[in-house]
Amino acid sequence: MEDCLFCKIINGQIPSDCVYEDELVYAFNDIDAQAPVHFLIVPKEHIESADDLTKDNKDLIGHIYLVAQKLAKEKGLTNGYRIVNNCKDDGGQTVNHIHFHVLGGRSMQWPPG
Ligand code: 5GP
Ligand code: ZN
Repeated sequence: MEDCLFCKIINGQIPSDCVYEDELVYAFNDIDAQAPVHFLIVPKEHIESADDLTKDNKDLIGHIYLVAQKLAKEKGLTNGYRIVNNCKDDGGQTVNHIHFHVLGGRSMQWPPG
């Protein structure tokens, strides 16, 4: 999608610090890290939010969770980590291309603000 920040990151128009890429997803460090480890996993396909997923996306979302697990292992997050998907305005989504935050390296708090 032309005017999407994460589409531009995926196609290299905007530079990013890539941590993983395959045919379905791109993962890169968050520019404003909220934990010692904080990267984003995004599908290469432009899907706006979790609210826009369909049954066709079931395998993709499962794949994203397995990529999160693989990268968390590689980064040594043996004590756990958090996977966050903010959905639309009330969910705190600021970039309208679905993405999954993976945060680790410190103990997380609950509930979120
Ligand atoms: P959201 O608030 O939509 O759940 O998350 C968007 C995330 O994208 C934020 O954590 C923000 O720091 C990150 N972000 C926004 N612009 C850029 C950018 O240009 N590069 C990178 N690497 N991350 C970005
Ligand atoms: Zn996009």
